[in-house]
Amino acid sequence: MNAHRHFDTIIIGGGQSGLATAYHLRRYTSNYLILDNQPQPGGAWQHGWDSLRLFSPAEASSLPGWLMPSAQEGFPTRLEVITYLTQYEKRYNLPVLRPVQVETVEHHEDMFVLHTNQGEYRTRTLICATGNWSNPYWPYYPGQELFSGTQLHSAQYRSPDEFRGKKVLIVGAGNSAAQILAEVSRVATTQWVTLDEPNFLPDEVDGRQLFQAATARYNAAQQDGSAPPPGGLETIVMVPSVKEARERDVLHARRPFISLLPDGVVWPDGTPETIDAIIWCTGFRPALHFLRPLGVVEEDGKVATEGTRASRQPGLWLVGYGGWTGFASATLIGVNRSARQTAGEVNEYLQKQAAPTT
Ligand code: FAD
Repeated sequence: MNAHRHFDTIIIGGGQSGLATAYHLRRYTSNYLILDNQPQPGGAWQHGWDSLRLFSPAEASSLPGWLMPSAQEGFPTRLEVITYLTQYEKRYNLPVLRPVQVETVEHHEDMFVLHTNQGEYRTRTLICATGNWSNPYWPYYPGQELFSGTQLHSAQYRSPDEFRGKKVLIVGAGNSAAQILAEVSRVATTQWVTLDEPNFLPDEVDGRQLFQAATARYNAAQQDGSAPPPGGLETIVMVPSVKEARERDVLHARRPFISLLPDGVVWPDGTPETIDAIIWCTGFRPALHFLRPLGVVEEDGKVATEGTRASRQPGLWLVGYGGWTGFASATLIGVNRSARQTAGEVNEYLQKQAAPTT
């Protein structure tokens, strides 16, 4: 450990994005550090629900340098991903310090000053790779605070057990909602609530083909100079549990209620209905509140970027937050491109800073 806590680069976040970036960065400097607030390796995968699996096979879900070992059965479980990330850290001897919570970041005299629960760290360049998981998004509906049933976000969901025999609404049109609906509907009476009709992939298409098709569309857009296509990775993958739910005829979505009551919801035609629990599978926002003192965090929680480089703060990069920080960058296989490019740019920046001025 650098006794003075002065580094060329600090990466905040020791999940897959931080590790992939460190993999490339270690070619350029050994004076770098990863700070992560979790007690164990694995990033957000530690907080997934018990039955969570990847939607693509191990060989299509790997970080740079080392393929994820093949799953024992079908697609890798979240515990297999955690084991892979744990071993990845060790294999490349990546300097992760945990648990360290970065609370705020300031910038003085060409140095970032990180205030953490373990004291202060200083660094010439800063890479944020804090993901989205710790900042779940809850949409607001009138009366939400009155509802006395159970409300939880998919970030807190672990298993269907607590919903046995209950009437449950699952809100959201993505993969999380479809997978949680699939298992909760086996033990509870469920309704699926989405803003629009959900999009399902054909049965034979798994996450690997989805990624390849989205990459091809992205590359085509790059070549003809048009804007990269939005989304593309949000469509529901027909994993076995979701196919099975379709066979049970529970994969039907209806449009949202207009308000909540103490014991239920009111549908758009004014009909009230008693509901025991609502599971909000409504996504996440970037976990970047600690950057607020720099004045770069926009109203939507993002930071203006060119690629992964912050447009308004020299020396700052952001990796792995999804489309706005690089195509497919919030996936295991997709983060490599952003990670490699970021490490190269950080190195260039450090070299320029070190070069004598004439
Ligand atoms: P994280 O894994 O969240 O890591 C960030 C780390 O930074 C965490 O340890 C966090 O605690 C820490 N941190 C945050 N704030 C601070 C702070 N202030 N100070 C210090 N540390 C901090 N991707 C795929 O490729 N295949 C899939 O099949 C797939 N399935 C998914 C299923 C679900 C339900 C979800 C939600 C996502 C899925 N993803 C999948 C997407 C993706 O792989 C994850 O979102 C991934 O965890 C993002 O990695 P990350 O390293 O960017 O962020």
